[in-house]
Amino acid sequence: MDSKPDPLHILFFPHLAHGHMIPTIDMARVFARQGVKATILTTHLNASFFSKVIERDRELGFEIDTVMIKFPSVEAGLPEGIENISSITSQEMGYKLFKAVSLLQQPLQQVLEDCHPNCLVADGMFPWATEVARKVGIPRLVFYGTSYLACCVLDSILRYEPLKNVTSDDQLFEVPGIPDKIMMTRLQQAAELRDSGTNTETTVVLHKLLEAEITSSGVIMNSFQELEPAYVRHYRKTLGRKTWHIGPLSLCNNDIEDKLERGNANAVSTHRVECLIWLDSKKPNSVLYICFGSVSWISPTQLNELAKGIEASGVDFIWVVRKTNKDEEEEEDKEEWLPKGFEERMKGKGLIIRGWAPQLLILDHEAIGGFLTHCGWNSILESITAGVPMVTWPLSNEQFSNEKLVTDIVRVGVGIGAQECSKWMESKKLLVTKENITSAISQLMVGEEANDMRNRASALKWMAKRAVEEGGSSHSDLKALLDGLRLNSI
Ligand code: UDP
Repeated sequence: MDSKPDPLHILFFPHLAHGHMIPTIDMARVFARQGVKATILTTHLNASFFSKVIERDRELGFEIDTVMIKFPSVEAGLPEGIENISSITSQEMGYKLFKAVSLLQQPLQQVLEDCHPNCLVADGMFPWATEVARKVGIPRLVFYGTSYLACCVLDSILRYEPLKNVTSDDQLFEVPGIPDKIMMTRLQQAAELRDSGTNTETTVVLHKLLEAEITSSGVIMNSFQELEPAYVRHYRKTLGRKTWHIGPLSLCNNDIEDKLERGNANAVSTHRVECLIWLDSKKPNSVLYICFGSVSWISPTQLNELAKGIEASGVDFIWVVRKTNKDEEEEEDKEEWLPKGFEERMKGKGLIIRGWAPQLLILDHEAIGGFLTHCGWNSILESITAGVPMVTWPLSNEQFSNEKLVTDIVRVGVGIGAQECSKWMESKKLLVTKENITSAISQLMVGEEANDMRNRASALKWMAKRAVEEGGSSHSDLKALLDGLRLNSI
């Protein structure tokens, strides 16, 4: 009697931040739907954000599971219960969390030895995972949760060092050797990159990340061919990287419960569902959705200016204001950043969600006409997948590169005029004025240019959906990747 061969077993190891875990869980679910046995490795607290969706997938018969490791909080000098970047409230805590993450190498090796997967897919922020996988004799694939364009810009800046030739922080330079003419400034680069060349320690860290990628078995990207074809080609052909694009991964969430709970099942409440009912009362394309992702830090002065800008624009809105554990202990009336009487005046026009919002469901609602985003890659992809044009307000990391794709290359967004990439948790200054805010919002929401952007966004939406269907570009890349792994040719 023929026995069925063992399924391909892949271990997924996401970074401990919502923006990394969310697409990795989606990816594990996508792989499980292709007959792969998918195991997600994480810590107890982080598992609680997505355990319900995994449970539902298991009930549906998919081979998907979670393996837990203890987070070395105490060893790194962190209080118990701090296991995710979104819980960090100071830079010092941030450094300790990164130290704790670096202590996960040994537990990872132990899990690989116990579970015997055929392949490890580990986050790009874990450069040491390439070596751990090599020790146990399996391929390691890197997962980067960003755009090809951002990867190409990073490579260009490290390779050609254009920052050495600029004489001031705000002098424009052309990013060398990439497919389009993209002009940027030193101030728009991530802090680590800005210091590279002068600060040897950060340069070493960046090169380590790059080396772990180059010596890995390849890179999985949450993107799709039709969105950034020149950068897929550049990354593959010019930079010689082995890569598979299998996105947008968020499209695997078809079930309403999956969408509602995505990323933070603990945060679902009637309050969050009420925002969808509120949207039902609004006209199509009339509401602006405002959210700065899961970790961004915005100064009270800047939040106050944003509130004034929103009010002056006259647009209807849903505004998500992130809450840290510390904020949650404080009372709402201590929110000094809100202009006096703002919520009273905005009754019926706008909603503020404090905490976690069901972003996929909000963006998919026909009343949403625009998204004011910090240009985190997941948010951009989710906006594109919903056919919603954007006001772009990059804050940190590689978000200024992502902005270029949205505003200059695929032209589905208006830049708000942000000029400075903040160091993590250090955005004290007022970076964008009320005038910048009102002007960008009205450009996005009304007029001929707005309609053109909406039409382009809508075309991309259908391309994104097509990409993940049988025969689509992302689906074909996924098949090629799985075939390669099954044949041991990766
Ligand atoms: N997100 C959400 N609700 C929120 C805030 C964020 O669902 O209130 C999700 C969002 O849909 C996206 C992720 O969290 O999938 C944020 O990732 P992104 O890359 O946009 O930004 P980051 O948080 O990594 O800066």
